[in-house]
Amino acid sequence: MPLPQADFRSIKQRIPIDGVLARYGVKLRSVGPHTLCGPCPLPTHTSRQSHESFSVNLSRQVWSCHSASCIAARDGHLGGHVIDLVAIMEVCSLRQAGIRLQDWFGLSVFPSHPAPLPPVAVESSAAQPNRPLGFALQGIDTRHPYLTQRGISAATAQWFGVGMYQGAGFLAGRCVIPIRDEQSRLVAYAGRAIDGQEPKYRFPAGFRKSQVLFNLDRAMETDGPNVIVVEGFFDALKVHQAGHPAVVALMGSSFSQRQSELLLSRFASVTLMLDGDQTGRRAAEVIAELLTPKVRVHQVKLPNRVQPDQLSSAEINVLAGPPNRAS
Ligand SMILES: [Zn+2]
Repeated sequence: MPLPQADFRSIKQRIPIDGVLARYGVKLRSVGPHTLCGPCPLPTHTSRQSHESFSVNLSRQVWSCHSASCIAARDGHLGGHVIDLVAIMEVCSLRQAGIRLQDWFGLSVFPSHPAPLPPVAVESSAAQPNRPLGFALQGIDTRHPYLTQRGISAATAQWFGVGMYQGAGFLAGRCVIPIRDEQSRLVAYAGRAIDGQEPKYRFPAGFRKSQVLFNLDRAMETDGPNVIVVEGFFDALKVHQAGHPAVVALMGSSFSQRQSELLLSRFASVTLMLDGDQTGRRAAEVIAELLTPKVRVHQVKLPNRVQPDQLSSAEINVLAGPPNRAS
């Protein structure tokens, strides 16, 4: 559901771009009566050559960055207005950026939130799909020691595009994990804290976990009839690394109708390998009950308090069966 055009216009007219930049702690210097200039704060900016490439026109309320790599990372757009700016900073859609701006600046031109949906509606297949992002983060370090500490090889990190992100915005200083939909379109990044910070995971505003399964696009390209279902991103990385490319992650322990449809559209057999805790075991029971009439379901029971990401490849293969591919 896009925001009505009038609401976008109202945001652009009423929220000052310098106020938004100040919110991000961006400091620019005045280079003309209506013009500010300085280093580019966007997460798409990687060039170290173009120091003063970002400029803002206060009379027109627009921004631009003339660094070629930054423009390319933004799908060729030279710049934009305040909503584009927030969409890029927050790695979210224009609509979500509009809602954030409205929350931050207390605009009352349209209702700030629709009535909260009951939990069952959130899980229904009628929920909005996630929109493709339209750009990709640059400068992700897939060789960061955090990944090694968690037993993720450089090859696995590269395959998934997972790594440390040192740019600006809400994912700064986090390990980012690109999330693609079943058609391999990039729809979000998750940001994992690496230093015990809360929340452990950050997702862009409005991202709906219930509409995707992490790694489904690649799992669908494999040959066999079976898919392994795990809870977390790192569980999926470790299971893949153990030689099982047909693995998907729920990104939690809830299972939606949409996720069920996605699995059933491709696989005839499902191996549930959820965490060895109460939540994981209960979720596995529920999912098995939902899927059993339609596909073959095998449940792997992990030892108490054990998650797949804590296991070695050999241990994973004992539990999940022999790998379908040498890793
Ligand atoms: Zn830039």
